[in-house]
Amino acid sequence: MSNVPAPLSTWVLNVSPSPTLAVDAKAKALKAAGEDVCGFAAGEPDFDTPAHIKEAATQALRDGKTKYAPTPGIPPLREAIAAKYSETYNQPTKAAQVVVSPGGKFSCYLTILAVCSSGDEVIVPAPYWVSYPEMVKLAGATPKVVVATDATGFKLTPEMLEAAITPRSKLIILNSPSNPSGAVYTVEELRALTAVAMKHNLYIMSDEIYEHLLYDGVQHVSPASFSDEARERTIIVSGFAKTFAMTGWRLGTLVAPAAIAKSVAELQSQMTSNATTFAQWGALAAYTEKDKTQAALEEMLVAFDRRRKLVHEGLNSIDGIDCLLSKGAFYLFPNVSSFGLKDLEFCERLLESEKVAAVHGSAFGTEGFLRISYATADETLNKGLERLARFCGTL
Ligand SMILES: *Cc1c(COP(=O)(O)O)cnc(C)c1O
Repeated sequence: MSNVPAPLSTWVLNVSPSPTLAVDAKAKALKAAGEDVCGFAAGEPDFDTPAHIKEAATQALRDGKTKYAPTPGIPPLREAIAAKYSETYNQPTKAAQVVVSPGGKFSCYLTILAVCSSGDEVIVPAPYWVSYPEMVKLAGATPKVVVATDATGFKLTPEMLEAAITPRSKLIILNSPSNPSGAVYTVEELRALTAVAMKHNLYIMSDEIYEHLLYDGVQHVSPASFSDEARERTIIVSGFAKTFAMTGWRLGTLVAPAAIAKSVAELQSQMTSNATTFAQWGALAAYTEKDKTQAALEEMLVAFDRRRKLVHEGLNSIDGIDCLLSKGAFYLFPNVSSFGLKDLEFCERLLESEKVAAVHGSAFGTEGFLRISYATADETLNKGLERLARFCGTL
């Protein structure tokens, strides 16, 4: 008899732990053991949180803002978020439509719980963010994965969406700019997908957490901006983690029609109460001190854009690797299928022999690719590319 207890519930049995966090943890452990690891696996900016945001949170602590906050968030932050959507995203938004949560990840989960019942199907385009299918399962619903490879720029087409819809389809998850591919839908592409979703009465969860990390002059657009009908069926998820280098703060946002936002807040009231109070007061400074925020963001974008081009060029100069130049987030998603290895084996051997950590595409539902995060120092990127080239030369 083994002493290991049986899994406690069907939820535990059915959920897989995050493979991206696992690869990152493995790379960090190797580093801690003294190995010279080049980490391409991190899902977070390598910058620090802008000083004015940290200062505002510190001040909030000094001021004793250490008690529970209202469940959907502190009023001035909800107002500021509503104003942002109204002013810059062409979406008239009231504070009552905004919920502040403990992380964009939790905003996603709340959205899925608010919209889906058991038996419902959720359309999840792949390559997908690793948590979507697991969250759908935790809500008792069924993920319906539709794979879009580099042949369509990692983007779902309206035809692919039509073909995936069944009478049980309830929700489609869109994520532009995308983690892991960095792909960004054009206005026309997004409008066409939104039209199909509306025709079939689907809800849209639009994960816009990388909304500000865009290159080559591309503009952000949300399905909610296309029509009143689309706005009524779209839940926008975003947060502070990626734009303001605040991953550890655990602060997410959600913007939805008022009735949905109210339901989401009711779920949150039973699950976490509120997002950390003084963290919210810190995040508020991102809006009240706009010039400083903009300057910090621009500095990050210049570095990300330089690295994006550096890594894209480096990857394509390796025989056998083919990589699209993505326009958003801080990821590239090269095709490594020509080497004839499963992508998991490719990554395991790469980490073992060259100490380069990257996440296999199949973790994101798309076999034959790697996710390369370029949110790391140029020096590490250059060294990692050299090692990757040497590794590919041995295959
Ligand atoms: C990082 C990320 C999130 C949420 O991050 P939080 O740290 O929970 O705010 C949501 N969606 C995608 C696609 C992400 O990459």
